[in-house]
Amino acid sequence: MNDLLADQLRYWQFLERAARELFVDYGYQEVRVPLVERAELFQRSIGEHTDIVEKEMYGFEDRGGERLSLRPEATAGLVRAAIEHGLLHNQKQRLWTAGPMFRHERPQQGRYRQFHQIDCEAFGFPGPDIDVEMIQLSARFWRKLGISDVRLSVNSLGTPESRKRYRARLVEYLEGHRPNLDAESLQRLESNPLRILDSKRPAMREVIANAPRLIDHLDPDSQRHFERFLDLLAACGIDHQVDPRLVRGLDYYSRTVFEWRTGALGAQDAVCSGGRYDGLVEQLGGEPTPAIGWALGIERVVSLMQAAGVRTPDARPAVYLALSGERAERAGLGIAERLRDALPGTGVLANMEGGSFKAQIKRADRSGATLALIIGDDEAARGIASIKRLRTEAAQQECSWDELPRRLTALLGAIQATGNDDGR
Ligand code: ATP
Ligand code: MG
Repeated sequence: MNDLLADQLRYWQFLERAARELFVDYGYQEVRVPLVERAELFQRSIGEHTDIVEKEMYGFEDRGGERLSLRPEATAGLVRAAIEHGLLHNQKQRLWTAGPMFRHERPQQGRYRQFHQIDCEAFGFPGPDIDVEMIQLSARFWRKLGISDVRLSVNSLGTPESRKRYRARLVEYLEGHRPNLDAESLQRLESNPLRILDSKRPAMREVIANAPRLIDHLDPDSQRHFERFLDLLAACGIDHQVDPRLVRGLDYYSRTVFEWRTGALGAQDAVCSGGRYDGLVEQLGGEPTPAIGWALGIERVVSLMQAAGVRTPDARPAVYLALSGERAERAGLGIAERLRDALPGTGVLANMEGGSFKAQIKRADRSGATLALIIGDDEAARGIASIKRLRTEAAQQECSWDELPRRLTALLGAIQATGNDDGR
């Protein structure tokens, strides 16, 4: 579980702002749901025999004896909320949420115990067009963030019934290869054999490569859905690869599943994953409602932004106000306020607790400010300030206090238009 400091957060804020804009562009509405839910909600939706429920959930019993869990993912809580508030009654919904998720995993690069997701879900749309629109949305997000090192894998999981038939075929095949299965796979053979296809162990590669494929066992409706989905993807010019081994680690998925993967982050290569879950709403007590969603790991996407050298907006203050002497200090707080009125969003730092001008200019420099305004007793008596460029050699200018808002707006505008003084 990580602390996030300003250096990291400038990427997060950039990403979050881009996501917000994107969801407006596609007509998605934000929802916020609790971090804690009944444990049972996750057991029923994600599935008993999944990594998440078997070994990764943080649970506790509250004072009333209820079993609660920190949410390991957002979909289950969102579906619960949508049912509870009647959002799915004869309505279509495009919803999104974001925030921390919790999984007790082995921490490593790109894998944390508190991590953060952006999550987006659409309810009430049965056709493959929404599957493609959701992928378009995610593809646009990469473009907005300046990320290009991601590839799209897609697959279809069919319906629960066709999956059950396939599962029987798969188990039969794997039984025939028992001696080649590792301990984990032998265990999964009983509980969740499809997950064996997801195994990343080299020793399992050949067994997996020769296994029967789920997309060869789809029911006719799922087959048609998948073909139309691929056709629409191609019509939109979205590059993709069909990966018959993409099965996803949660039980509730059906039909279309997809994952954006990157080559830039080593083993933790999934940056955004999702799929259809047409049965989940009903399973959790709602009316039958087709649904699809995806979740994106913010930490991994931030790493991608850093790897791609994405530039984030400048968060440094524009102006540092250096004040020395009784009269200057008395006027300083008021001048700073007027500058903030005139220059919202640019950052005006007023020097606190005195110090020599030399010390104050040092602080100004460390703050990253573009300009220092210097007001000593002499300037205060004349009602002026000296403007000093901190990032470039230039003669100091004098300016009356009344003129300051206008002069600084013009000066900062000109500096920004020519690229900031220090080239950032
Ligand atoms: P993985 O195969 O890497 O374990 P997953 O299939 O468990 O991923 P999902 O449950 O689909 O992941 O979550 C969606 C996204 O959230 C992933 O694509 C990934 O970017 C991110 N994610 C999942 N688990 C973690 C974690 N422990 N730390 C950081 N990011 C994570
Ligand atoms: Mg996982």
